[in-house]
Amino acid sequence: MRIEGESLTVTYPGAGDPALDTVSLRVEPGTLYAVLGPNGSGKSTLMRALLGTVPLRSGAVRLGDRPLGDWRRRELARSVGAVTQHEPTAFPIRVRELVAMGRYPHLGPLRPETPRDREIIREALVQCDVERMADRDVSTLSGGEHQRVRIARALAQEPKALVLDEPTASLDIRHEMEILQLLRKSADRGMTVLLITHHLDLAARFADRILVLGCGRVAAEGTPTEVFREEILEAVYGWPVEVRIDEITGAPRVIPRS
Ligand code: ADP
Ligand code: MG
Repeated sequence: MRIEGESLTVTYPGAGDPALDTVSLRVEPGTLYAVLGPNGSGKSTLMRALLGTVPLRSGAVRLGDRPLGDWRRRELARSVGAVTQHEPTAFPIRVRELVAMGRYPHLGPLRPETPRDREIIREALVQCDVERMADRDVSTLSGGEHQRVRIARALAQEPKALVLDEPTASLDIRHEMEILQLLRKSADRGMTVLLITHHLDLAARFADRILVLGCGRVAAEGTPTEVFREEILEAVYGWPVEVRIDEITGAPRVIPRS
């Protein structure tokens, strides 16, 4: 399912400059699309704009073949998975139950939970390496464990498109690599994956295309090689960098200079 944003502009109440300023993007099915940019550059706002959780001052979002506004909530919940940056755990809930919530949009009075639903839940727990803690209360998890549980819930949803806001920010190297490989595999199987991240090197290594935001605007868009140019990254991040091709991965890599 294609995700398209056309000239998206968002201004928060009381703010002067727009947090997102005429940003357009198109994420094709079967691609892993990364969004990069410094703190406060509008990445989370872009995600909210695409999911319809923040009002647009102008612009339009299309999901698949329809404008976002034409989607019914339940239909949207079945088709689009979202892992937001922050999510407070407001009530006590076990890991397995939270992941099972991913199935809710698929269930109903005439569609009770089946063995297949339970298998999908189990698979999501395994894929995110949280099966061991399935019976623990979510509030007792570490930041990284909680993050993996939330990714598992999104996977259990079996969405056509998945949008994730810094999902690996608190993960160790193994769990981060496992999640990136999982997202890559999901894209290869046809899912539309939009990944917001600060991990430039991993984005260059795993993503098909990259969008770089700077001050709410598109600073660059293209393949990792097109986007990873020293002058672009230095201007956006305000720090001198060197870009080299990594001998092992063959992807561009960013080395901050001192
Ligand atoms: P990023 O995710 O790239 O760090 P955000 O999209 O969260 O950036 O924020 C973009 C800009 O909008 C920042 O200047 C931020 O302070 C501001 N902002 C974000 N959310 C709100 C909000 N709810 N109200 C007012 N300003 C906000
Ligand atoms: Mg953010």
